[in-house]
Amino acid sequence: MQSSHSFNETPRNSPWAEVAPEDWNNWKWQLKNRITKLEQLESLIELTSEERKGCLFADKKLALAITPYFFNLINRKDTLDPIRLQVVPKVQETTTAPEELLDPVGEDDTSPVEGIVHRYPDRVLFLVTDRCASYCRYCTRSRLVSNAQDYNFHPKFDIGLEYIRNNPQIRDVLLSGGDPLLMSNNKIEYLLSELRKIKHVQFIRIGSRIPVFLPQRIDEGLCEIFKKHGPVWMSIHVNHPNECTRELAEACEKLAFSGVPIGNQSVLLKGINNNADIMRSLIHKLLMMRVRPYYLYQCDLITGSAHLRTDPREGIKIIESLRGHTTGYAIPQFVIDAPGGGGKIPINPNYIQSVTEDAIIMKNYEGKTYSYPLKPTGIVKNNLSNPELIQPMLT
Ligand SMILES: *Cc1c(COP(=O)(O)O)cnc(C)c1O
Repeated sequence: MQSSHSFNETPRNSPWAEVAPEDWNNWKWQLKNRITKLEQLESLIELTSEERKGCLFADKKLALAITPYFFNLINRKDTLDPIRLQVVPKVQETTTAPEELLDPVGEDDTSPVEGIVHRYPDRVLFLVTDRCASYCRYCTRSRLVSNAQDYNFHPKFDIGLEYIRNNPQIRDVLLSGGDPLLMSNNKIEYLLSELRKIKHVQFIRIGSRIPVFLPQRIDEGLCEIFKKHGPVWMSIHVNHPNECTRELAEACEKLAFSGVPIGNQSVLLKGINNNADIMRSLIHKLLMMRVRPYYLYQCDLITGSAHLRTDPREGIKIIESLRGHTTGYAIPQFVIDAPGGGGKIPINPNYIQSVTEDAIIMKNYEGKTYSYPLKPTGIVKNNLSNPELIQPMLT
């Protein structure tokens, strides 16, 4: 039984309805036909003036790029469509609020060599490319991806690999970027095989939105590489149930059948998924695709993101509405990646009402109060019904 069959196929809209399936399902065709220019976008949807101005500025900040596959999921009549809001630029991106930062989670300060962020002692973030299949308008690394700003990031694998080889405390390597799966199978195979040769590297994972933007990329050749060099874990990035298509389900299925455990990282975004019903629908769909919700991120304080950021207390409320009310596996950990480089800090609803000398007093998901003793509360009794019978077994 293929789980992907519980997901409906998305009808193709103009101008792609007549594209031959072998083109549409070819990831290189999808990349070649990306929407990258204002005129292309205007031929497909009626842009608001905010969007139009946003597109004019996009090349100075974060390039415009949307795969036809992903664009096809937009309801074109709806200017508030949750997919549209993630990938169509808006003029608000060009304004900077006082709290906003170009490097919102302080990565540059913890970068020992170009391409490596070494914040936690035992693991590194390894930025292997600056390109993505499509660009998320709230990208936390917009300073370096898409090459729109003068950041001059030139990913060089060998410097990063050498750093990992020389630092035996690194047991976990997270490949990210940009999107590592945009690289050729040859490059991916080279990277994974070099990492596998390093004895102290125990855990390898890839952060990628390719299964969401360009599911066609998850081809047989790539799956063979994961089988050969696995276990490789993957964190994908799905924000809204509308992204959970037949194609994404099939891509996840291929990855899972190649031995890749998949987690999901969502970003809490205003008007997109800051709503308990939407989040519940998303995480249920993810479980049906064998994807374990991993993190829910408070949106980083990236420049030009004020229009998409929410109050973190909304995230706490959403988690509170899920915990106990649905499958524990479905519930992501809500985190704030602390501005200035503090790393990811878990933000949880408060289930502890008080801790006394004798007990921890807690509230359950229904709001009822329970306590758990901190030490024995009376005389310790033998709880066996007939101790004489058991005694020979104990001696
Ligand atoms: C998120 C992140 C990691 C991985 O953190 P986990 O909690 O293990 O998923 C590692 N390094 C950096 C710099 C990160 O931002």
